[in-house]
Amino acid sequence: METLLAIDVGGTHQRFAAINSKGKILEKVTYPSHRNISSDEFFQTLKERITDSLKKNLCEGVALALPIVIDKQTGKVQDAPHLPFLNGVHVDQGLSFLSIPWVLENDANCALLGEVWLGQGKEEPSFCCLTLGTGIGSGLFLNRELWKGVRGMASEMGHLKIDFSGKTPCCCGNHGCLEAFVSATALQKKTGYKAQELYQMASRGNPIALSAFEHMGECLGRGIGSVANLLNIDLFILAGRLSQAFQFFYPSCHRIAQESAMKGPRQHLRIVQSKLGDDAGLLGAAFLMKQKLRL
Ligand SMILES: [Zn+2]
Repeated sequence: METLLAIDVGGTHQRFAAINSKGKILEKVTYPSHRNISSDEFFQTLKERITDSLKKNLCEGVALALPIVIDKQTGKVQDAPHLPFLNGVHVDQGLSFLSIPWVLENDANCALLGEVWLGQGKEEPSFCCLTLGTGIGSGLFLNRELWKGVRGMASEMGHLKIDFSGKTPCCCGNHGCLEAFVSATALQKKTGYKAQELYQMASRGNPIALSAFEHMGECLGRGIGSVANLLNIDLFILAGRLSQAFQFFYPSCHRIAQESAMKGPRQHLRIVQSKLGDDAGLLGAAFLMKQKLRL
């Protein structure tokens, strides 16, 4: 059976996985991500790590999931908040060292494709997948197709404005975005604790942690209700590390989403936790490569 190399590049880690064409992860290796480097150094390190991986596993193609938005018309990186050195860069040129077929896709879109292939989006004609982590990523699947927008910049649900007080700045330069309330960064700013610590505290019944997750759920519910009104999609899948705390933020999220959505869209509205965990992006990237190679 054919094997593919999937790479999920995050702001703190790079994960490499050899995945077979049935979606079984055969091997997974995690490397640190470096932040203060040049784009040349980034591609050089990537090249070394890919070469190493391909020596260990014979692969038909390389699939990359990156937290970047590429302008379809110019081919340049338009937005890369977690890999700032890639802003304005032609990633295609940086990856020209690859001598086997490769694909590249935004990491949130890859998580969505993972759900389409092996997760809860398998049977679903249209849905939204949110990756909750350092920030918020989101992908839209409409009529069984990934919706990327006119220029490839669609589905920035994290930057949906939910607060107009002007008091909560967002990493995008605006104020009051969903991401400024619903992300590991936002939780840490609000409570002083890292999301992982808060999760453990909430598990022990700590009121500060429980209330932080409840508020996060309310904000997320507001965003989901608005998107449900706009698109009338029934399913929202929550993936990413922060979705681990689903049990703590789901009740308030569900309640506010029901309040925010109109009578029609809210009837069949479902908000569920991804079962693929952190692997959704890797699997989705592999799925894209598998489709490209018609495996
Ligand atoms: Zn924003």
